[in-house]
Amino acid sequence: MSPAQKQFPIGNFRVKVEAYTEHGTPRRMSNVEGVEASRDPVKTAKRAVAALARKLRIAADLSDLKLEGTRESILGTHVTFQQLHDGLPVTGGWIRVDVDKAGNVFSILNDLIPVRVLKQASQEQAKRQAASPGKYTVKEAFAEARKALGRKAGPSLTVVSSEKVSLPVKGVPRQAIKLVLVSTKPRGEWKVYVDLVTGKVLAKVRLLKDATGKGRVFDPNPVVALDDSTLKDSSNVPDAAYREVDLQGLEGKGLLDGPFVTTRTTPGRVKKTNLDFRFRRGKKAFTEAMVYFHIDRVQRYIQDLGFTHVLNRPIAVNVVGQSDDNSHYSPVTKDLFFGTGGVNDSEDAEIILHEYGHAIQDAQVPGFGRSSECGAMGEGFGDYLAGSFFAEHKPARLRACVGTWDGVSYSHDDPPCLRRLDSKKKYPKDVTDEVHDDGEIWSACLWEIRAALGARTADKLVIASHSLLSPAASFADGANALVTADAQLNAGKNKAVIRGVFVRRGILKK
Ligand SMILES: [Zn+2]
Repeated sequence: MSPAQKQFPIGNFRVKVEAYTEHGTPRRMSNVEGVEASRDPVKTAKRAVAALARKLRIAADLSDLKLEGTRESILGTHVTFQQLHDGLPVTGGWIRVDVDKAGNVFSILNDLIPVRVLKQASQEQAKRQAASPGKYTVKEAFAEARKALGRKAGPSLTVVSSEKVSLPVKGVPRQAIKLVLVSTKPRGEWKVYVDLVTGKVLAKVRLLKDATGKGRVFDPNPVVALDDSTLKDSSNVPDAAYREVDLQGLEGKGLLDGPFVTTRTTPGRVKKTNLDFRFRRGKKAFTEAMVYFHIDRVQRYIQDLGFTHVLNRPIAVNVVGQSDDNSHYSPVTKDLFFGTGGVNDSEDAEIILHEYGHAIQDAQVPGFGRSSECGAMGEGFGDYLAGSFFAEHKPARLRACVGTWDGVSYSHDDPPCLRRLDSKKKYPKDVTDEVHDDGEIWSACLWEIRAALGARTADKLVIASHSLLSPAASFADGANALVTADAQLNAGKNKAVIRGVFVRRGILKK
Protein backbone atom coordinates (compact mmCIF):
# COMPACT_ATOMS: atom_id res chain seq x y z
CA MET A 1 0.00 0.00 0.00
CA SER A 2 1.41 3.40 -0.85
CA PRO A 3 1.66 6.07 1.84
CA ALA A 4 -0.47 8.28 -0.39
CA GLN A 5 -3.52 6.26 0.58
CA LYS A 6 -3.73 7.80 4.02
CA GLN A 7 -4.58 11.01 2.28
CA PHE A 8 -7.90 9.67 1.06
CA PRO A 9 -10.72 11.84 2.29
CA ILE A 10 -12.08 10.09 5.35
CA GLY A 11 -14.87 12.46 6.15
CA ASN A 12 -16.67 12.09 9.47
CA PHE A 13 -15.51 8.62 10.31
CA ARG A 14 -17.57 7.02 13.06
CA VAL A 15 -17.75 3.50 14.33
CA LYS A 16 -19.43 1.63 17.16
CA VAL A 17 -16.96 -0.57 19.09
CA GLU A 18 -18.56 -3.77 20.37
CA ALA A 19 -15.51 -5.53 21.81
CA TYR A 20 -11.83 -4.89 22.51
CA THR A 21 -8.67 -6.94 21.94
CA GLU A 22 -6.30 -8.05 24.71
CA HIS A 23 -4.22 -4.99 23.76
CA GLY A 24 -7.11 -2.65 24.47
CA THR A 25 -7.71 -1.77 20.82
CA PRO A 26 -11.15 -2.08 19.14
CA ARG A 27 -11.85 -5.63 18.02
CA ARG A 28 -15.41 -5.85 16.70
CA MET A 29 -16.87 -2.73 15.13
CA SER A 30 -20.20 -2.02 13.53
CA ASN A 31 -22.30 0.95 12.43
CA VAL A 32 -19.36 2.20 10.42
CA GLU A 33 -20.08 5.66 9.03
CA GLY A 34 -18.12 8.14 7.02
CA VAL A 35 -16.04 5.84 4.82
CA GLU A 36 -16.49 6.90 1.25
CA ALA A 37 -18.09 4.08 -0.72
CA SER A 38 -16.53 2.89 -3.94
CA ARG A 39 -17.17 0.17 -6.46
CA ASP A 40 -13.94 -1.53 -5.46
CA PRO A 41 -14.44 -3.24 -2.08
CA VAL A 42 -10.67 -3.57 -1.53
CA LYS A 43 -10.19 0.15 -2.01
CA THR A 44 -13.08 0.85 0.36
CA ALA A 45 -11.68 -1.54 2.94
CA LYS A 46 -8.26 0.12 2.80
CA ARG A 47 -9.88 3.49 3.37
CA ALA A 48 -11.64 2.16 6.44
CA VAL A 49 -8.48 0.61 7.92
CA ALA A 50 -6.47 3.75 7.21
CA ALA A 51 -9.11 5.83 8.95
CA LEU A 52 -8.90 3.50 11.94
CA ALA A 53 -5.09 3.17 12.05
CA ARG A 54 -4.60 5.46 15.03
CA LYS A 55 -7.35 3.82 17.03
CA LEU A 56 -5.97 0.37 16.20
CA ARG A 57 -2.43 1.65 16.99
CA ILE A 58 -1.01 0.26 13.77
CA ALA A 59 1.38 1.93 11.32
CA ALA A 60 -0.49 4.82 9.76
CA ASP A 61 0.73 3.98 6.26
CA LEU A 62 -0.57 0.38 6.66
CA SER A 63 2.92 -0.76 5.63
CA ASP A 64 2.71 -3.91 7.76
CA LEU A 65 -0.52 -5.11 6.13
CA LYS A 66 -0.84 -7.31 3.08
CA LEU A 67 -4.08 -8.02 1.24
CA GLU A 68 -4.86 -11.65 2.03
CA GLY A 69 -7.94 -11.98 -0.16
CA THR A 70 -11.62 -11.31 -0.64
CA ARG A 71 -14.58 -13.59 -0.15
CA GLU A 72 -18.12 -13.09 -1.43
CA SER A 73 -21.17 -13.92 0.63
CA ILE A 74 -24.84 -13.07 0.69
CA LEU A 75 -23.92 -10.05 2.82
CA GLY A 76 -21.39 -8.61 0.41
CA THR A 77 -17.61 -8.77 0.09
CA HIS A 78 -15.32 -9.63 3.00
CA VAL A 79 -11.82 -8.20 2.60
CA THR A 80 -9.04 -9.61 4.78
CA PHE A 81 -5.56 -8.19 5.43
CA GLN A 82 -2.70 -10.11 7.02
CA GLN A 83 -0.32 -8.37 9.40
CA LEU A 84 3.42 -8.81 8.84
CA HIS A 85 6.11 -8.43 11.48
CA ASP A 86 9.77 -8.25 10.45
CA GLY A 87 8.63 -9.72 7.16
CA LEU A 88 6.81 -12.73 8.65
CA PRO A 89 3.03 -13.23 8.77
CA VAL A 90 1.67 -12.76 12.29
CA THR A 91 -0.35 -15.82 13.28
CA GLY A 92 -3.91 -14.68 13.95
CA GLY A 93 -2.95 -11.11 13.00
CA TRP A 94 -5.81 -10.25 10.69
CA ILE A 95 -8.24 -7.50 10.02
CA ARG A 96 -11.41 -8.19 8.07
CA VAL A 97 -13.54 -5.45 6.59
CA ASP A 98 -17.09 -6.28 5.51
CA VAL A 99 -18.37 -4.25 2.59
CA ASP A 100 -22.02 -4.46 1.55
CA LYS A 101 -23.30 -4.70 -2.01
CA ALA A 102 -23.72 -0.94 -2.21
CA GLY A 103 -20.02 -0.50 -1.39
CA ASN A 104 -20.44 0.65 2.23
CA VAL A 105 -18.42 -0.74 5.12
CA PHE A 106 -20.84 -2.25 7.64
CA SER A 107 -18.56 -4.10 10.05
CA ILE A 108 -14.90 -4.69 10.89
CA LEU A 109 -13.13 -7.42 12.83
CA ASN A 110 -9.64 -6.51 14.05
CA ASP A 111 -7.00 -8.83 15.53
CA LEU A 112 -3.94 -6.76 14.64
CA ILE A 113 -1.12 -6.30 17.12
CA PRO A 114 -0.24 -2.68 18.01
CA VAL A 115 3.09 -1.24 16.86
CA ARG A 116 4.30 -0.84 20.46
CA VAL A 117 3.98 -4.60 21.05
CA LEU A 118 5.68 -5.39 17.75
CA LYS A 119 8.63 -3.20 18.76
CA GLN A 120 8.88 -5.01 22.08
CA ALA A 121 8.72 -8.32 20.17
CA SER A 122 11.61 -7.29 17.90
CA GLN A 123 13.76 -6.40 20.90
CA GLU A 124 13.03 -9.68 22.65
CA GLN A 125 13.68 -11.58 19.44
CA ALA A 126 17.10 -9.91 19.11
CA LYS A 127 17.92 -10.82 22.72
CA ARG A 128 16.99 -14.46 22.22
CA GLN A 129 19.00 -14.58 19.03
CA ALA A 130 22.05 -13.10 20.78
CA ALA A 131 21.76 -15.64 23.59
CA SER A 132 21.59 -18.61 21.24
CA PRO A 133 22.97 -17.89 17.80
CA GLY A 134 21.76 -19.93 14.86
CA LYS A 135 18.30 -20.89 13.71
CA TYR A 136 16.41 -24.16 13.68
CA THR A 137 15.98 -25.84 10.32
CA VAL A 138 12.67 -27.42 9.31
CA LYS A 139 14.22 -30.84 9.87
CA GLU A 140 15.32 -29.95 13.40
CA ALA A 141 11.97 -28.35 14.15
CA PHE A 142 10.22 -31.51 12.93
CA ALA A 143 12.27 -33.61 15.36
CA GLU A 144 11.13 -31.34 18.23
CA ALA A 145 7.51 -31.50 17.05
CA ARG A 146 7.60 -35.29 16.87
CA LYS A 147 8.91 -35.44 20.44
CA ALA A 148 6.16 -33.11 21.62
CA LEU A 149 3.38 -35.15 19.97
CA GLY A 150 4.74 -38.35 21.46
CA ARG A 151 2.57 -41.41 21.08
CA LYS A 152 -0.30 -39.46 19.52
CA ALA A 153 1.64 -39.51 16.25
CA GLY A 154 3.03 -42.71 14.81
CA PRO A 155 6.15 -43.32 12.73
CA SER A 156 4.12 -42.29 9.67
CA LEU A 157 4.19 -38.63 10.77
CA THR A 158 5.21 -36.40 7.87
CA VAL A 159 5.57 -32.68 7.16
CA VAL A 160 2.92 -31.46 4.74
CA SER A 161 4.06 -27.84 4.78
CA SER A 162 6.31 -25.51 6.71
CA GLU A 163 6.43 -21.74 6.99
CA LYS A 164 8.24 -19.14 9.07
CA VAL A 165 5.75 -17.10 11.05
CA SER A 166 5.53 -14.60 13.85
CA LEU A 167 3.53 -16.34 16.57
CA PRO A 168 2.05 -14.32 19.43
CA VAL A 169 2.82 -15.97 22.76
CA LYS A 170 0.89 -14.25 25.56
CA GLY A 171 0.22 -11.47 23.07
CA VAL A 172 3.85 -10.89 22.04
CA PRO A 173 5.04 -12.39 18.73
CA ARG A 174 8.08 -14.67 18.46
CA GLN A 175 9.61 -16.02 15.28
CA ALA A 176 8.65 -19.63 14.80
CA ILE A 177 8.47 -22.42 12.26
CA LYS A 178 4.90 -23.52 11.62
CA LEU A 179 4.70 -27.18 10.63
CA VAL A 180 1.57 -28.84 9.28
CA LEU A 181 1.93 -32.52 10.08
CA VAL A 182 -0.07 -35.60 9.15
CA SER A 183 0.07 -39.08 10.62
CA THR A 184 -1.82 -41.98 9.04
CA LYS A 185 -1.30 -44.51 11.85
CA PRO A 186 -2.82 -43.42 14.15
CA ARG A 187 -4.70 -40.88 12.09
CA GLY A 188 -4.03 -37.31 13.05
CA GLU A 189 -3.32 -33.84 11.70
CA TRP A 190 -1.59 -31.08 13.64
CA LYS A 191 -0.19 -27.60 13.38
CA VAL A 192 2.92 -27.34 15.54
CA TYR A 193 4.85 -24.10 16.15
CA VAL A 194 8.54 -24.43 17.02
CA ASP A 195 10.59 -21.43 18.20
CA LEU A 196 12.97 -20.53 15.38
CA VAL A 197 15.80 -19.72 17.80
CA THR A 198 15.34 -21.92 20.86
CA GLY A 199 13.63 -24.95 19.28
CA LYS A 200 10.99 -24.90 21.99
CA VAL A 201 7.54 -26.13 20.93
CA LEU A 202 5.38 -23.04 21.43
CA ALA A 203 1.99 -24.44 20.43
CA LYS A 204 0.31 -27.58 19.13
CA VAL A 205 -3.07 -27.49 17.44
CA ARG A 206 -4.98 -30.65 16.62
CA LEU A 207 -6.69 -30.18 13.26
CA LEU A 208 -8.58 -33.43 12.90
CA LYS A 209 -11.78 -33.37 14.89
CA ASP A 210 -13.72 -36.48 15.89
CA ALA A 211 -17.44 -36.59 15.40
CA THR A 212 -20.01 -38.74 17.15
CA GLY A 213 -22.68 -40.42 15.06
CA LYS A 214 -25.85 -42.25 15.92
CA GLY A 215 -26.26 -45.97 15.48
CA ARG A 216 -28.82 -48.68 16.13
CA VAL A 217 -27.37 -52.07 17.02
CA PHE A 218 -27.90 -55.45 18.59
CA ASP A 219 -25.92 -55.60 21.85
CA PRO A 220 -24.81 -58.29 21.50
CA ASN A 221 -27.78 -59.97 19.75
CA PRO A 222 -31.59 -60.40 19.81
CA VAL A 223 -31.54 -63.78 21.57
CA VAL A 224 -29.71 -62.19 24.50
CA ALA A 225 -31.60 -58.87 24.44
CA LEU A 226 -35.01 -60.59 24.49
CA ASP A 227 -33.85 -63.71 26.34
CA ASP A 228 -35.67 -65.61 23.62
CA SER A 229 -33.97 -68.66 22.16
CA THR A 230 -36.94 -69.47 19.92
CA LEU A 231 -36.10 -66.61 17.54
CA LYS A 232 -35.31 -67.60 13.97
CA ASP A 233 -33.45 -65.89 11.14
CA SER A 234 -36.89 -65.40 9.54
CA SER A 235 -38.45 -63.91 12.71
CA ASN A 236 -39.72 -60.38 12.79
CA VAL A 237 -37.23 -59.01 15.29
CA PRO A 238 -39.04 -56.48 17.52
CA ASP A 239 -37.73 -53.01 18.35
CA ALA A 240 -36.90 -54.09 21.89
CA ALA A 241 -34.01 -56.15 20.49
CA TYR A 242 -32.26 -52.98 19.29
CA ARG A 243 -30.27 -50.37 21.19
CA GLU A 244 -29.52 -46.83 20.11
CA VAL A 245 -25.87 -45.98 20.62
CA ASP A 246 -23.26 -43.33 19.91
CA LEU A 247 -20.75 -44.13 17.20
CA GLN A 248 -17.60 -42.53 18.56
CA GLY A 249 -14.55 -41.14 16.82
CA LEU A 250 -16.02 -40.78 13.32
CA GLU A 251 -13.93 -38.68 11.01
CA GLY A 252 -17.05 -36.71 10.24
CA LYS A 253 -17.16 -37.10 6.47
CA GLY A 254 -20.23 -39.32 6.58
CA LEU A 255 -18.42 -42.65 6.36
CA LEU A 256 -17.83 -45.26 9.04
CA ASP A 257 -14.16 -44.37 9.41
CA GLY A 258 -12.68 -44.00 12.85
CA PRO A 259 -9.51 -44.59 14.83
CA PHE A 260 -10.13 -48.35 15.21
CA VAL A 261 -12.50 -49.40 12.43
CA THR A 262 -13.12 -48.55 8.81
CA THR A 263 -15.69 -50.10 6.49
CA ARG A 264 -13.74 -48.99 3.42
CA THR A 265 -13.47 -52.57 2.12
CA THR A 266 -17.26 -53.05 2.19
CA PRO A 267 -18.55 -52.62 -1.39
CA GLY A 268 -21.01 -49.74 -1.71
CA ARG A 269 -20.62 -48.86 1.95
CA VAL A 270 -23.11 -46.55 3.58
CA LYS A 271 -22.51 -42.81 3.62
CA LYS A 272 -24.57 -40.50 5.83
CA THR A 273 -23.32 -36.95 6.05
CA ASN A 274 -25.61 -36.30 9.04
CA LEU A 275 -23.84 -39.24 10.78
CA ASP A 276 -27.18 -40.89 11.54
CA PHE A 277 -26.55 -44.60 11.02
CA ARG A 278 -29.75 -45.95 12.57
CA PHE A 279 -30.87 -48.90 10.47
CA ARG A 280 -32.59 -52.22 11.10
CA ARG A 281 -31.56 -55.71 10.11
CA GLY A 282 -32.13 -56.49 6.47
CA LYS A 283 -30.17 -53.42 5.45
CA LYS A 284 -26.47 -53.93 4.82
CA ALA A 285 -25.86 -50.59 6.52
CA PHE A 286 -27.18 -52.09 9.78
CA THR A 287 -24.30 -54.56 9.89
CA GLU A 288 -21.83 -51.82 8.99
CA ALA A 289 -22.95 -49.86 12.05
CA MET A 290 -22.74 -53.11 14.07
CA VAL A 291 -19.10 -53.78 13.24
CA TYR A 292 -18.17 -50.14 13.72
CA PHE A 293 -19.78 -49.86 17.13
CA HIS A 294 -18.65 -53.18 18.57
CA ILE A 295 -15.04 -53.13 17.39
CA ASP A 296 -14.64 -49.49 18.41
CA ARG A 297 -16.02 -50.22 21.87
CA VAL A 298 -13.96 -53.34 22.56
CA GLN A 299 -10.77 -51.61 21.38
CA ARG A 300 -11.49 -48.75 23.78
CA TYR A 301 -11.92 -51.35 26.54
CA ILE A 302 -8.60 -53.01 25.61
CA GLN A 303 -6.89 -49.62 25.80
CA ASP A 304 -8.58 -48.97 29.11
CA LEU A 305 -7.00 -52.19 30.39
CA GLY A 306 -3.63 -50.61 29.58
CA PHE A 307 -2.89 -52.04 26.13
CA THR A 308 -2.24 -48.98 24.01
CA HIS A 309 -0.41 -50.80 21.22
CA VAL A 310 -2.63 -53.81 20.58
CA LEU A 311 -4.29 -53.19 17.22
CA ASN A 312 -4.47 -49.48 17.89
CA ARG A 313 -5.29 -48.76 14.26
CA PRO A 314 -8.38 -48.80 12.04
CA ILE A 315 -9.05 -52.37 10.94
CA ALA A 316 -10.84 -52.64 7.60
CA VAL A 317 -14.08 -54.61 7.65
CA ASN A 318 -16.05 -56.02 4.74
CA VAL A 319 -19.50 -56.96 6.09
CA VAL A 320 -20.37 -58.88 2.92
CA GLY A 321 -16.97 -60.52 2.64
CA GLN A 322 -18.23 -64.02 1.86
CA SER A 323 -21.58 -65.56 0.99
CA ASP A 324 -21.43 -68.65 3.21
CA ASP A 325 -22.12 -68.73 6.95
CA ASN A 326 -18.54 -68.08 7.90
CA SER A 327 -16.26 -65.17 8.63
CA HIS A 328 -12.54 -64.68 8.77
CA TYR A 329 -9.61 -62.50 9.59
CA SER A 330 -6.97 -62.31 6.87
CA PRO A 331 -3.41 -62.37 8.24
CA VAL A 332 -2.29 -61.26 4.76
CA THR A 333 -4.41 -58.14 4.30
CA LYS A 334 -4.99 -57.74 8.08
CA ASP A 335 -8.68 -57.15 7.33
CA LEU A 336 -11.92 -58.73 8.55
CA PHE A 337 -14.53 -60.39 6.33
CA PHE A 338 -18.00 -61.38 7.50
CA GLY A 339 -20.25 -64.02 5.96
CA THR A 340 -23.86 -63.48 4.98
CA GLY A 341 -25.10 -67.09 5.00
CA GLY A 342 -27.74 -67.95 7.65
CA VAL A 343 -27.97 -65.10 10.14
CA ASN A 344 -25.48 -62.51 8.88
CA ASP A 345 -22.39 -63.06 11.02
CA SER A 346 -22.05 -59.34 11.60
CA GLU A 347 -25.56 -59.26 13.13
CA ASP A 348 -24.16 -61.09 16.15
CA ALA A 349 -21.67 -58.99 18.09
CA GLU A 350 -20.19 -62.11 19.65
CA ILE A 351 -19.13 -63.28 16.19
CA ILE A 352 -17.70 -59.81 15.52
CA LEU A 353 -15.63 -59.97 18.71
CA HIS A 354 -14.54 -63.55 17.99
CA GLU A 355 -13.12 -62.50 14.62
CA TYR A 356 -11.59 -59.37 16.10
CA GLY A 357 -9.89 -61.68 18.62
CA HIS A 358 -7.96 -63.28 15.74
CA ALA A 359 -6.84 -59.84 14.59
CA ILE A 360 -5.71 -58.98 18.12
CA GLN A 361 -3.59 -62.10 18.40
CA ASP A 362 -2.09 -61.62 14.97
CA ALA A 363 -1.17 -58.06 15.98
CA GLN A 364 0.52 -59.36 19.13
CA VAL A 365 2.17 -62.43 17.59
CA PRO A 366 2.32 -62.15 13.79
CA GLY A 367 1.45 -65.48 12.22
CA PHE A 368 -0.22 -66.74 15.41
CA GLY A 369 -1.73 -70.21 15.04
CA ARG A 370 0.89 -72.22 13.15
CA SER A 371 0.40 -75.33 15.28
CA SER A 372 -2.99 -76.92 15.85
CA GLU A 373 -2.88 -76.20 19.60
CA CYS A 374 -1.97 -72.62 18.86
CA GLY A 375 -4.83 -72.44 16.37
CA ALA A 376 -7.14 -73.84 19.03
CA MET A 377 -5.95 -71.17 21.47
CA GLY A 378 -6.81 -68.63 18.78
CA GLU A 379 -10.38 -69.94 18.48
CA GLY A 380 -10.66 -70.28 22.25
CA PHE A 381 -9.48 -66.73 22.83
CA GLY A 382 -11.97 -65.29 20.32
CA ASP A 383 -14.80 -67.12 22.07
CA TYR A 384 -13.52 -66.04 25.47
CA LEU A 385 -13.20 -62.39 24.43
CA ALA A 386 -16.79 -62.36 23.17
CA GLY A 387 -18.14 -64.30 26.14
CA SER A 388 -16.25 -62.26 28.71
CA PHE A 389 -17.10 -58.90 27.19
CA PHE A 390 -20.85 -59.53 27.07
CA ALA A 391 -21.26 -61.75 30.15
CA GLU A 392 -22.75 -58.99 32.28
CA HIS A 393 -25.33 -58.20 29.57
CA LYS A 394 -26.63 -61.74 29.46
CA PRO A 395 -29.21 -63.80 31.31
CA ALA A 396 -27.43 -66.49 33.36
CA ARG A 397 -28.53 -69.38 31.15
CA LEU A 398 -26.95 -67.77 28.07
CA ARG A 399 -23.73 -66.62 29.70
CA ALA A 400 -21.54 -69.55 28.68
CA CYS A 401 -22.92 -69.64 25.12
CA VAL A 402 -21.15 -67.77 22.34
CA GLY A 403 -23.03 -66.72 19.20
CA THR A 404 -26.59 -67.50 20.30
CA TRP A 405 -28.09 -65.47 17.44
CA ASP A 406 -25.70 -66.78 14.82
CA GLY A 407 -26.55 -70.24 16.16
CA VAL A 408 -30.30 -70.10 15.45
CA SER A 409 -29.75 -71.02 11.81
CA TYR A 410 -27.82 -74.25 12.48
CA SER A 411 -27.81 -75.19 16.16
CA HIS A 412 -30.28 -77.74 17.53
CA ASP A 413 -29.30 -77.04 21.12
CA ASP A 414 -31.29 -74.93 23.52
CA PRO A 415 -30.07 -72.31 23.82
CA PRO A 416 -28.74 -72.39 20.28
CA CYS A 417 -25.12 -71.39 20.06
CA LEU A 418 -21.95 -71.58 18.07
CA ARG A 419 -19.78 -72.83 20.94
CA ARG A 420 -19.71 -72.93 24.73
CA LEU A 421 -17.25 -71.66 27.29
CA ASP A 422 -18.04 -74.26 29.94
CA SER A 423 -17.10 -77.51 28.23
CA LYS A 424 -15.93 -80.43 30.36
CA LYS A 425 -13.36 -81.43 27.73
CA LYS A 426 -10.02 -82.68 29.09
CA TYR A 427 -6.53 -82.58 27.64
CA PRO A 428 -5.26 -84.61 25.86
CA LYS A 429 -8.07 -87.18 25.69
CA ASP A 430 -10.69 -84.89 24.06
CA VAL A 431 -8.36 -83.37 21.46
CA THR A 432 -9.77 -83.82 17.93
CA ASP A 433 -7.28 -81.65 16.02
CA GLU A 434 -10.16 -79.49 14.81
CA VAL A 435 -9.21 -76.02 16.04
CA HIS A 436 -12.74 -74.83 16.91
CA ASP A 437 -13.57 -77.98 18.85
CA ASP A 438 -10.24 -77.98 20.65
CA GLY A 439 -10.65 -74.27 21.25
CA GLU A 440 -13.37 -75.23 23.74
CA ILE A 441 -10.67 -76.81 25.92
CA TRP A 442 -8.76 -73.55 25.97
CA SER A 443 -11.71 -71.18 26.33
CA ALA A 444 -13.04 -73.25 29.24
CA CYS A 445 -9.75 -72.71 31.09
CA LEU A 446 -9.88 -68.95 30.49
CA TRP A 447 -13.54 -68.89 31.54
CA GLU A 448 -12.69 -70.61 34.84
CA ILE A 449 -9.84 -68.17 35.48
CA ARG A 450 -12.26 -65.32 34.85
CA ALA A 451 -14.74 -66.78 37.33
CA ALA A 452 -11.99 -66.94 39.95
CA LEU A 453 -10.23 -63.61 39.33
CA GLY A 454 -12.91 -61.36 37.87
CA ALA A 455 -13.35 -60.10 34.32
CA ARG A 456 -10.85 -57.23 34.24
CA THR A 457 -8.01 -59.11 35.90
CA ALA A 458 -8.54 -62.17 33.72
CA ASP A 459 -8.96 -60.21 30.48
CA LYS A 460 -5.78 -58.28 31.17
CA LEU A 461 -3.76 -61.40 31.98
CA VAL A 462 -5.02 -63.26 28.93
CA ILE A 463 -4.19 -60.45 26.50
CA ALA A 464 -0.84 -59.75 28.17
CA SER A 465 0.14 -63.43 28.01
CA HIS A 466 -0.11 -63.49 24.20
CA SER A 467 3.02 -61.36 23.95
CA LEU A 468 4.97 -64.26 25.48
CA LEU A 469 3.88 -66.80 22.86
CA SER A 470 5.41 -67.98 19.60
CA PRO A 471 3.21 -68.57 16.52
CA ALA A 472 3.39 -72.31 17.19
CA ALA A 473 2.82 -72.29 20.95
CA SER A 474 1.28 -75.28 22.72
CA PHE A 475 -1.48 -75.23 25.36
CA ALA A 476 1.24 -75.71 28.00
CA ASP A 477 3.12 -72.69 26.62
CA GLY A 478 -0.09 -70.69 26.81
CA ALA A 479 -0.72 -71.79 30.40
CA ASN A 480 2.82 -70.91 31.47
CA ALA A 481 2.55 -67.55 29.72
CA LEU A 482 -0.47 -66.76 31.89
CA VAL A 483 1.50 -67.68 35.02
CA THR A 484 4.39 -65.46 33.88
CA ALA A 485 2.07 -62.58 33.01
CA ASP A 486 0.58 -62.83 36.49
CA ALA A 487 4.07 -62.80 38.02
CA GLN A 488 4.81 -59.56 36.15
CA LEU A 489 1.46 -57.82 36.58
CA ASN A 490 0.28 -59.09 39.97
CA ALA A 491 3.48 -60.28 41.66
CA GLY A 492 2.31 -63.85 41.15
CA LYS A 493 -0.70 -63.43 43.42
CA ASN A 494 -2.88 -65.69 41.27
CA LYS A 495 -0.34 -68.39 40.45
CA ALA A 496 -2.09 -71.15 42.40
CA VAL A 497 -5.49 -70.37 40.86
CA ILE A 498 -4.15 -70.27 37.31
CA ARG A 499 -2.03 -73.40 37.65
CA GLY A 500 -4.90 -75.21 39.36
CA VAL A 501 -7.19 -74.60 36.38
CA PHE A 502 -4.65 -75.96 33.89
CA VAL A 503 -3.68 -78.91 36.07
CA ARG A 504 -7.32 -80.00 36.37
CA ARG A 505 -7.71 -79.81 32.57
CA GLY A 506 -4.61 -81.95 32.11
CA ILE A 507 -2.61 -79.18 30.40
CA LEU A 508 -0.05 -78.62 33.18
CA LYS A 509 1.52 -81.27 35.40
CA LYS A 510 0.91 -81.01 39.15
ZN1 LIG B 1 -12.26 -68.19 14.57
